[in-house]
Amino acid sequence: MSSGPAAVSPLYADLHAHTTASDGTFTPTELVRAAKAAGLSLLAVTDHDTVAGLDEATREADRIGLALVPGVELSVEGPPGKCHLLGFNFDRHAPGFLDTLARVSEARRTRNGRMAERLQALGVPVTLEEITAVAPPGANVGRPHFAQTLVNRGVVANLAQAFERYLGDGAPAYVPAASLTPAEAIALIHGAGGLAVLAHPGLLKLAPGEQIRNRLLALQQLGLDGIEAYYGRHTLGDTERFLHFAQTLGLIVTGGSDFHGAHKPDVFLGDVLDGRGVPLGVLPPVLRARAGE
Ligand code: AMP
Ligand code: ZN
Ligand code: FE
Ligand code: FE
Repeated sequence: MSSGPAAVSPLYADLHAHTTASDGTFTPTELVRAAKAAGLSLLAVTDHDTVAGLDEATREADRIGLALVPGVELSVEGPPGKCHLLGFNFDRHAPGFLDTLARVSEARRTRNGRMAERLQALGVPVTLEEITAVAPPGANVGRPHFAQTLVNRGVVANLAQAFERYLGDGAPAYVPAASLTPAEAIALIHGAGGLAVLAHPGLLKLAPGEQIRNRLLALQQLGLDGIEAYYGRHTLGDTERFLHFAQTLGLIVTGGSDFHGAHKPDVFLGDVLDGRGVPLGVLPPVLRARAGE
């Protein structure tokens, strides 16, 4: 006897997570295993300015049977403002792609040196070598590694305090990391056949009087494909607002947790909306297809 149509259990994705290739604390292998254990069907690895974790993540994902989307998160600044862009589903071996990321990562290292100098000038005796040693060799070091070093040194009580007092945007040791403009970053992702998505739009800092819709429109004119409407730290109101913008502007929608392991202790992998990932059904077909949907 049938009790009606078989219930289709929804499948979930997390399309924003960091590894030890940048400022996460899970290795690519650990991240992929954790995603599988969390019941996710699709994961994107989106390290800051690098794809160095993707080969290892792909190997492990293939081994354990998890669908993986190649990703990257780029910090950009320039018209129409400052934001983080996610690139998805690109061919990282496209001509010039890795070279540009290498150049951006080099600029990040220069910026890190300047942040270490600022800390020293503020009387905090830390060296770039010490900060770099918190990360595995070759990782793209970022502010969470600085924060961890300040905690380890007893300069601050916890990571949040490190950002409040020294490292947060506008705090005394902060130096911007962006070396690409939004236009350049979108062109880079498109040049490698990928999708360019505005990360965590709810965290955007707008200029006084600036309308979010105008920012989205300006980015769309530069080629932006979508927005991360679902984000672990968005309120329900944020999510609804960005879903509405996506629909009215004709942008695709993605979602992710921004998992960083111990560097963001209150953010959990796969926790995007109500403790779950983003339903595969809301994602554009090209990303859904990665999970065979
Ligand atoms: P960076 O790419 O070096 O500028 O570092 C950016 C990363 O620092 C973000 O992805 C977050 O992981 C972290 N971050 C930035 N601001 C804060 C904050 N106020 N509190 C905690 N983590 C933060
Ligand atoms: Zn980060
Ligand atoms: Fe970000
Ligand atoms: Fe991120």
